[in-house]
Amino acid sequence: MSGDKPRVESASTYNMWSRRNYLVVTVGVAALSGCAGHTGDGGETTEPDEEGEEDEEGEELPEGVTAEEFESGPVPEVYLSATSLGNEQRNPDELHTKADVSFSEYDEARESEAHRPGTCCANCADYIPDKNGDEFGACAEVEGYIDGADWCTIYEELPEPEVPEGMSEAELATAEVPAEYRTASSQVGEERDPDDLFSQEEVALTESVDAIKDGMAPPGQSCGNCAEFIPDKNGDTWGACARVEGFIAVEDWCSVWEHVSEEL
Ligand code: SF4
Ligand code: SF4
Repeated sequence: MSGDKPRVESASTYNMWSRRNYLVVTVGVAALSGCAGHTGDGGETTEPDEEGEEDEEGEELPEGVTAEEFESGPVPEVYLSATSLGNEQRNPDELHTKADVSFSEYDEARESEAHRPGTCCANCADYIPDKNGDEFGACAEVEGYIDGADWCTIYEELPEPEVPEGMSEAELATAEVPAEYRTASSQVGEERDPDDLFSQEEVALTESVDAIKDGMAPPGQSCGNCAEFIPDKNGDTWGACARVEGFIAVEDWCSVWEHVSEEL
């Protein structure tokens, strides 16, 4: 990992660092992870593919997907009864339409009184991140294709994991993770090397909702849709990361976030 460290020097103005209490952002950390716009799940903006279709809002559709399918499904088979970030199983026969839940892109969501800053599909308990590399995911409650940077009125906050017994919250950032995570592979096969990890402070780890609200991250990014995330393996709802030390929750975010789609 040497030579591949992020430039986070400017993020060093922390008040007493602790995992959930960190922040004096003077930073352009967002610049580290590309926040000029999005195509899907908060990735960088790219010019539309010449052959790609667009929906009514001008969003580029995955290849071969019609505007109607994008809006109402069906979604690819891999999502039909998949499990969301909050462990909700999708039932394709019991879904809301996008219109039912005032589904919108993030910028439009900000106009809604019901929207809480920083909340988006990528940090919602019902989100199912990309599984086929097209940058879009799905939802356990809403039909059609879903971008991590979208939002709707039934947004559900992910529950914060409890501090494991025998530990304090302050220890979570630097604690050795349980044995099953130490050399585990991330959700897309990135292997964790316990001797080659960033500290949480180096990468400005915080909760995704706060990072987006404070402008450190673009909407659509969380550990849940990051290529480096190692999901819960022991039922305590904590996960780990192939690049960052300590306990990591699915609703967290850091400045070396990498779109899960890039490794699919
Ligand atoms: S915000 Fe709405 S559409 Fe997005 S993942 Fe959550 S429930 Fe689904
Ligand atoms: S999973 Fe991704 S966003 Fe989360 S801490 Fe690891 S590298 Fe950062």
